[in-house]
Amino acid sequence: MKITDHFTQAEGNTLVSFEVLPPLKGGSMQDIFDTLDPLMEFNPPFIDVTYHREEFVYNKRASGYYEKTAIRKRPGTVGICASIMHHYGVDAIPHLICGGFSKEETENALIDLQFLGIHNVLALRGDARKFEDKFIPETDGHKYAVELVQQIHEMNHGNYLDTSIERGAKTDFCVGVAGYPEKHFESPNFQQDIQYLKDKIDAGASYIVTQMFFDNKKFFNFKKACEDAGINVPIIPGIKPLTKKYQLNSIPRKFFVDFPEELVKQVVNTHEDAIVDLGIEWCISQCKELKESGVPCIHFYTMSDSKIIYKVAEKL
Ligand code: FAD
Repeated sequence: MKITDHFTQAEGNTLVSFEVLPPLKGGSMQDIFDTLDPLMEFNPPFIDVTYHREEFVYNKRASGYYEKTAIRKRPGTVGICASIMHHYGVDAIPHLICGGFSKEETENALIDLQFLGIHNVLALRGDARKFEDKFIPETDGHKYAVELVQQIHEMNHGNYLDTSIERGAKTDFCVGVAGYPEKHFESPNFQQDIQYLKDKIDAGASYIVTQMFFDNKKFFNFKKACEDAGINVPIIPGIKPLTKKYQLNSIPRKFFVDFPEELVKQVVNTHEDAIVDLGIEWCISQCKELKESGVPCIHFYTMSDSKIIYKVAEKL
């Protein structure tokens, strides 16, 4: 079922959904089930599975030279999605990125998804690789997520890259895209970021999932800016509780989001052992306010740790 249909069917009730990461290489599907099993009592209509492109690592050889090798630490997104759908009977959403894919490889990945009965995707650009200072697309790949959305839109109209295919079967993908309540870090400014987001919607995306945030004011401001720009699709807040003191520094560095002053004060004045509870309490009050504001869904970044997410979701 399309994600947007889940929202329609919910008739204004706020749904709860989860994002999981493929386990590190050598892990198994049981790792995913262990994360998801306790969360299934909240009836998530869909589960997102992230995609992790290959990274370069440098291994020192006996000669003293370094050898550059490409490795993927967390493979398996498509297979995991198929397995989740089969095991739990809920929709699974693979994250599909531009990085590392030519347009043809993207088309083949989408054909595989179609075969597997997976009709929802979150279309993303992906980040620059480690050791690269900017995102570099494949020679015949997409530079921005909007181009990926356009490609999927074309396939939904039966248009494939291979132009010898006439009247190709129309795929039926419902496409989500990423939005940034505190602006994407590469954007020149907030307003331009909203414009690029609108381009993704105009290209055929049907809903937005946001980057995590810890200050609801940022989300409400973003939602208003989207409305002002003529973006009328569902906007799903992405949420993660703070669990460790060091995240006051690591989360802004990694995700380019700010912590509100009040939360910073509380964390600084709390012993490390009590930070998990503080983070859960903060997250619950964030979620309650979001729910009251009528968001269609609250999307939790589980980071493979369901215990903490469970404690938040059970209070909603
Ligand atoms: P885009 O929408 O392409 O935007 C990238 C940058 O380019 C922005 O600064 C934007 O303003 C700018 N831009 C857009 N269009 C244009 C244009 N026409 N001209 C000039 N500039 C433009 N990453 C993964 O690798 N795997 C995942 O599974 C994953 N899941 C994610 C899930 C969510 C909900 C979110 C919010 C992010 C996720 N990411 C994931 C991270 C994401 O790939 C990065 O944030 C990436 O840097 C940007 O992706 P995007 O799709 O927002 O890119």
